[in-house]
Amino acid sequence: MLTIVKYPESVLREKAVPVEKMDKKLDVLINDMADSMYENDGVGLAAPQVGISKQVIVLDIGHGLRSLYNPEIIEKSDEEESMEEGCLSLPEILVHVSRPSRIVVRGRNEYDKLVQVEAEGLLARVLQHEIDHLNGLLIVDFASSVARSFLKSKLKKLEKNL
Ligand SMILES: [Zn+2]
Repeated sequence: MLTIVKYPESVLREKAVPVEKMDKKLDVLINDMADSMYENDGVGLAAPQVGISKQVIVLDIGHGLRSLYNPEIIEKSDEEESMEEGCLSLPEILVHVSRPSRIVVRGRNEYDKLVQVEAEGLLARVLQHEIDHLNGLLIVDFASSVARSFLKSKLKKLEKNL
């Protein structure tokens, strides 16, 4: 079982490297990431969250497992929606994050097939959250200044655990 990396580990701030090709190693990684996601009751997980700086994400919002590598957001709606989000790498922290309500993501799935995913609602949100991880972005980066001051003590506590 892979261990979930927690804030403020530096790998969470790195820009993840694109995957060169689908191979046995990537297949194993996707399966292990899925196991960790389910074990921790998450709806999504990005490879940097298990300490691997590669562009791989897995998610399941209740409609089955999906995985993508080298995902890229190619379209975003102007309309945004705000919702409270949590993150397995930031335990006990919830942040209201405003995001485009509809997006189109292009990437390769676990069968190495190029896919285009048109997403809205929770799926769009989880995809954006996980793709943020591949760019070193965390939900705390979206916190308003008021929310940030509330989060300060919780973040300090996490920083001490490192
Ligand atoms: Zn997260």
